Amino acid sequence: MRAVVVHPPAVGVELADVPLPTRSVGEIRVRVLECGVCGTDHDIVGGKYGRAPEGASYLILGHENLGVVLEGDPAVVGFSPGDLVVATVRRGCGRCRFCFANRSDFCESGGYTERGIVGAHGFMAEQYTDVPEYLVRVDPALRDVAVLLEPLSVVEKAIFQGQRVLNRKEPTPGHPPTGSPSALVAGTGAIGMLAAFVLRVRGYEVVAIDRHDDTTPAGRLLKRIGATHVNAAAGLAVLGEQGFDLVIEATGSVSLDFGLANVLGPNGVLVLTGIPDASVPPTTVAAGALWREVVLGNRAIVGSVNANRTYFESGLRDMTVFQEKWPGALAGVISLRRPLAEVADAVLEHVGGSIKTVLEVTPPRTSAPSAG
Ligand SMILES: [Zn+2]
Ligand SMILES: [Zn+2]
Repeated sequence: MRAVVVHPPAVGVELADVPLPTRSVGEIRVRVLECGVCGTDHDIVGGKYGRAPEGASYLILGHENLGVVLEGDPAVVGFSPGDLVVATVRRGCGRCRFCFANRSDFCESGGYTERGIVGAHGFMAEQYTDVPEYLVRVDPALRDVAVLLEPLSVVEKAIFQGQRVLNRKEPTPGHPPTGSPSALVAGTGAIGMLAAFVLRVRGYEVVAIDRHDDTTPAGRLLKRIGATHVNAAAGLAVLGEQGFDLVIEATGSVSLDFGLANVLGPNGVLVLTGIPDASVPPTTVAAGALWREVVLGNRAIVGSVNANRTYFESGLRDMTVFQEKWPGALAGVISLRRPLAEVADAVLEHVGGSIKTVLEVTPPRTSAPSAG
């Protein structure tokens, strides 16, 4: 079968012919329809990240996936050929207490694998096989947007974690803060945009910042969902004196992260989701003032990565709400669909103003003879 292959830590990516995966007892065979491309793929292709499976000479790339069930196992109930499915990414280490509790996103041994990233083949291939516990069935009504479910799951977890910390000040644990909470989203790539969608349906007043004016697709989409877009190219001073209850960071910029700690309101929570480059040179920060404000204002800084199955399921529920509230808006997060053969361009080029590029692993059926 055709697959997008990398050889970490070597730089580069290629389309290769690899063997079809064999289906073990209890597994389901899935034909891949689409795969989203993200910064992690870019880093793997750039040789900064990623690891081939044990004993393999290559890694099949791709973790943001949507597929259709081809073949099940008679012993497996709940999946039939033709069902749309999205696979989760992380596979637990099998030895730590969190992985035992199906919460591999909190794995503490570090011995996990991630499909398409570390130690397990990904989804930029014609087919894959997996056990049903890692497959989430998708309503056909969400066909056009379901490839966004994996990045949405990451956002669902980050916001849930942030809200858990915010809720610590509530008299009754588990209840959201009263009044109209405010949120800042830093970065308008797919993670930032999806965070704005989720925060809006959670009742937040949302401000989203990037380094562009309002005429970009992200700027227009934010307006559509009732969020405020601000061009912060000249710095965070443009935000004025407002302190935010919840800040979701989705850029991985080290210097920005410190600035974001300073726009937290009293009791505010900053959730970091961008993965900074560990090799950036040390920066100077006013550490005394920063930690003083954290303590005196009950502020918190939380890191969040990956997602377990529950966040894929909450993501599906939210997708349905987005579609009802702003019909067609979620599809606007996907800027570009490209055929599998254009993977190198899709991973390496950044088309200006584009939010998310999706690779069509299985070419969509065309109703008329195509011109090309
Ligand atoms: Zn991704
Ligand atoms: Zn573990």
